[in-house]
Amino acid sequence: MQLLKDRILRDGKVFPGNVLKVDSFLNHQMDVSLFCEIGKEFHRRFAEDEVTKILTIESSGIGIACLAAMYFGVPVVFAKKNKTKNIAGDVFTSRVESFTHGRIYDIIVSKEFLHKEDKVLLIDDFLANGSALLGLASLVKDAGATLVGAGIVIEKGFQTGGSLVRGTGLRVESLATVASMEDGTVQFS
Ligand code: 5GP
Repeated sequence: MQLLKDRILRDGKVFPGNVLKVDSFLNHQMDVSLFCEIGKEFHRRFAEDEVTKILTIESSGIGIACLAAMYFGVPVVFAKKNKTKNIAGDVFTSRVESFTHGRIYDIIVSKEFLHKEDKVLLIDDFLANGSALLGLASLVKDAGATLVGAGIVIEKGFQTGGSLVRGTGLRVESLATVASMEDGTVQFS
């Protein structure tokens, strides 16, 4: 998606540890017009898949998922990062290793909001090592729902997540794939 790539080149900042900061339009301040275009593009790519629900993870995925959901006409469910030791109530749960914070946490979704009849599209801002997507996919599997695929805004193609997740048979559509970030310069594949 050229609009997105241009924006990354203009406003993205490369940080140590292979972190791309896009706080000025995606992760902190949010460019809602850009989110609309991103949502439209996800809809174009998954229009034939009869999606009934979009599943994302708090917090950076939520805004993107909401705008995409407008075009699909379906609800968004976001997996919560569980902060307490006790996992309360009737929930699906899974483990995710945070790429940016380097710690492991449980994610939960209430059983009320994922059903076996659902056709679920996963949406997230980044794909790095694939832990977030695999965690979300596991919640969908536990619910007995159908996993349609995953829509990713920025895939870091030089990390292992893309091949790991695609290797499970999941369809992953990334709108911008970064091939390298050497010397602070972003190159797309
Ligand atoms: P993964 O689970 O694929 O290793 O990492 C995906 C998650 O880590 C995303 O939800 C995203 O929030 C965060 N993340 C991974 N890499 C980056 C990055 O380069 N920049 C930012 N801003 N977030 C990232």
